[in-house]
Amino acid sequence: MNGWQGRLPGRLVLLGHPVSTSLSPTFQNAALSAARIPLVYEAVDVQPADFARTLASLLEQRAWGNVTVPHKERMRVACDEVTPLAERVGAVNTFWLDQRGRLVGDNTDVGGFTAAITSLLGTAPADMTFGVLGAGGAAAAVLASLDNLPGCRAYVFNRSMERARALCERFRAVAQPADDVGTIAGAQIVVNATSVGLRDDSYVLDPDLIPRETPVIDLVYHRGETAWVRALRARGHRVADGTTMLIEQGALAFERWFGVEPDRGAMWEAVRSAG
Ligand code: NAP
Repeated sequence: MNGWQGRLPGRLVLLGHPVSTSLSPTFQNAALSAARIPLVYEAVDVQPADFARTLASLLEQRAWGNVTVPHKERMRVACDEVTPLAERVGAVNTFWLDQRGRLVGDNTDVGGFTAAITSLLGTAPADMTFGVLGAGGAAAAVLASLDNLPGCRAYVFNRSMERARALCERFRAVAQPADDVGTIAGAQIVVNATSVGLRDDSYVLDPDLIPRETPVIDLVYHRGETAWVRALRARGHRVADGTTMLIEQGALAFERWFGVEPDRGAMWEAVRSAG
């Protein structure tokens, strides 16, 4: 008997705003189909003001699922129980109801980032200094990942420096604020954990400031890659966009829900076909 056969949710949903362009339904439905699990993964657009009411209604329908911007922090507060990792990050991106009907939250962005950086470098990073741009939930997931990578540390720069300082205080064993973007550009790996590049072609950091041998990872997912990723690739950098992290956080969520590994090949194929 497969791990999931005894227990399925009433619905499987992604809560966010906006969610209409999300790729998660594309690759999660491919994974469900490959595993012959009779569910459809649906994106549900939830305005911030409607979050509590919509969540209550979905839980009555025994919904499990994912949470994305801007609801991850509120979801952590709404859960009856969160994993230590979700508590560390301060955000929940994956939830389900346990056997007793309690709402449980986890954070699979952390594992998604670890998988993405390992894939970019060809090996898990060790004893490396990261330059992290941004101080929101994605940056927290990056720092929580570094917590578990031996000898890795980060400089953090953010438009609002107060937010960077507060984040670094929470992760003081691995992170310290940087006063200028030059420190970020000079790190051994550069990470864009801001949302710059999501809605337009602006650059979060001038590519000319980053040495060509420095690997770069942009957590923003954008069909056809962000303009920043394209510019860095043209300069000869080893560079990854947000696709690997997106698929990996989804694969880890699938494992939490159903107790089995999804078919990652089917997930990647679905994303490639979607263009
Ligand atoms: P968030 O909590 O809202 O944080 C947004 C961050 O971007 C903040 O540091 C913010 O700075 C910064 N920012 C926004 N606009 C900016 C601008 N014009 N100039 C400079 N900085 C700007 O969002 P998040 O959850 O951390 O997500 C950040 C990005 O990561 C999003 O694009 C999201 O899609 C992506 N992400 C991708 C994955 C994946 O699987 N690939 C997973 C998680 C997140 P302030 O603090 O100054 O406002």
